[in-house]
Amino acid sequence: MAETPPSLQIGSFKVAFLTDGLWRNDGGCMFGVVPRELWKREHPPDEQNRIRLNLTCPLIARGKEAILVDTGIGNRLDAVERKIFDHGEGWLPDHLRALGMELGDVTAVVVSHLHFDHCGGLVRRRESGALESAFPRARIFVQKGELEIAETPRNERLRAAYRHAGEILAPNRGRIEAIEGDLELTPGVVAVPTGGHTRDHQVVRVADAGSSFVHMADIVPTRSHMRGPWNQAYDLDAITTMEQKARYLSAAVRDRTWISFAHDDQVFAAQVVNDRGKLVVSDKVIVPERLYQGAGTGLK
Ligand SMILES: [Zn+2]
Repeated sequence: MAETPPSLQIGSFKVAFLTDGLWRNDGGCMFGVVPRELWKREHPPDEQNRIRLNLTCPLIARGKEAILVDTGIGNRLDAVERKIFDHGEGWLPDHLRALGMELGDVTAVVVSHLHFDHCGGLVRRRESGALESAFPRARIFVQKGELEIAETPRNERLRAAYRHAGEILAPNRGRIEAIEGDLELTPGVVAVPTGGHTRDHQVVRVADAGSSFVHMADIVPTRSHMRGPWNQAYDLDAITTMEQKARYLSAAVRDRTWISFAHDDQVFAAQVVNDRGKLVVSDKVIVPERLYQGAGTGLK
């Protein structure tokens, strides 16, 4: 049995931090223009220059409503890709079970964008090899522009970034809802486009009874990315990422908003304060190291 995921109470909502497990990715890709000498202090690279990352998927729940934000990598990777990214079977279902829930209990999934490490868990690979929809009863929300680019990538870079999209979207056809701009999923929970990382990247904001929370997804993927120029090389428009990050982080300081990160391997969520002009983390929801054990295969 997997360890119970930690959670935050945001007004009447419980936000539980599920993880689809650890994976590794190239440190240079994760930090763009930042020299290795700087990022390696906070993210020690392995012999292949990969750094240890999480796949954080917040579950926003109230009553029978259960809104999942992002789905991790899932279990669709082949053996070669699993080795490249050092990812196991996809642990999210185990952590959902630890909360006393099944995949069928998820009522909505909001996908920040359609890169494989955020939408891969929308499908499960069966023993026969066939892919089926992972959340049989959920409505799935993606920005319309993101869906269009994933389905008809117009150059080599986009084709590579979305090469997995067809097989993930196909079993979910009919339940994917293409949204344009802000969408209120339930009173107090809103999906909001940011652009930056991808043209139509979106975040999810919860605000209820004076407390608030935003999953920043790939706008602030780790605490290190709270610094303005620390952005991923994948960002299609790093300037927009910087502007959105600055806007959300200053609002977070002002309103004591909890923010969560897509890929921080040690901290799920944090509150930030301005310490003499520098943004620093104050309170935090730590990733218990034992959450990474006893679930999935965790190929080494
Ligand atoms: Zn990502």
